[in-house]
Amino acid sequence: SNISTGNGSSNIFVAIRVRPETEEEINDRATKTVVRVVDSNVITLDTVSPPSIRLRQHSQNDSEQRFIFDRVFDQFATQKEVFENTTKDVIKYVVNGFNATVFAYGATGAGKTHTMIGNEKSGPGVMVLTMRDLFEEVEKNNNKLKISMSYLEIYNENIYDLLVNDSKPLGLREDASRQVVVADLTERYPTSSNEVFKMLEFGNTNRKQSPTNVNKVSSRSHAILQVFIRSANTSGNVTSGKLSLIDLAGSERAAKTMNRGVRLVEGANINKSLLSLANCINALAGKPGQYIPYRDSKLTRILKDSLGGNCKTVMIANISPNSTSYEETHNTLVYANRAKDI
Ligand code: ADP
Ligand code: MG
Repeated sequence: SNISTGNGSSNIFVAIRVRPETEEEINDRATKTVVRVVDSNVITLDTVSPPSIRLRQHSQNDSEQRFIFDRVFDQFATQKEVFENTTKDVIKYVVNGFNATVFAYGATGAGKTHTMIGNEKSGPGVMVLTMRDLFEEVEKNNNKLKISMSYLEIYNENIYDLLVNDSKPLGLREDASRQVVVADLTERYPTSSNEVFKMLEFGNTNRKQSPTNVNKVSSRSHAILQVFIRSANTSGNVTSGKLSLIDLAGSERAAKTMNRGVRLVEGANINKSLLSLANCINALAGKPGQYIPYRDSKLTRILKDSLGGNCKTVMIANISPNSTSYEETHNTLVYANRAKDI
């Protein structure tokens, strides 16, 4: 049950989603659109050297960089389209007892929260659409599947339960089967996607600051929805799969370090979990058998059983098409391009 990735055998699916330009960006004549979606696999970025002023004046002869991905979504892509072409296939895999991770990557303001959570206007994002799909699977399987979920935040290398008010920082433990679990984390058994939506909404009010605002604090926190799927087959064996859906912290501060593959510097003003995730992905994309530094951060410890090996990974890298975000967009495309090799 491979995800179709063009080469047919990869364990990672890398998608790019371009958000629409804002009114402000459209009306600002000192900026221009630098990203072009050529087709559902190809995207180009004009090579301009920021911060250059009056970019519109020399737009004609700029050269461009071309990137190929498993999927590219332009600004008109719907939430449903993004879900169906990135995450839907992974759900079947998890129902069959495997683990998978879906994460939204990108700079602050690029559309990560929109992709994962969504809003009234554009509709629910990947998190809710995934749960909706799972409830349909439950019905198809005559209720032989048990679905539960947890919702947590990593902020400043502390783990907080988003499904309770005023969560204390929680610890990590290994359970009897040597799986890493978050101690005392709330686990809920929702039965409808509406219930899920309410839980996520409640959880988001518990984030260090509302994730739908572009602000410093939420841009430094990771929100992780963990979905557990347990099923008993006819011979009585129980399989369990785990799907982690993650709205990552903004990549802008860590981007340079990540693309250069520099070691994590203790005390550097960058997000340790994000950098460790990048290091793990780089290591997984490198030579087989390479040491994977899962233990370096809270995020990668939580994902130890959900990245690499026979796990499926989906990365939805979000970018802005406007020249004001040129550097972040470039960094994101270069990073996402490298992640294709896992
Ligand atoms: P991030 O979580 O990466 O910081 P957001 O998801 O908050 O970014 O997006 C920034 C702004 O752009 C928000 O107002 C969001 O609603 C809007 N936005 C992002 N992506 C889209 C999209 N695909 N369609 C419409 N609006 C979008
Ligand atoms: Mg956000």
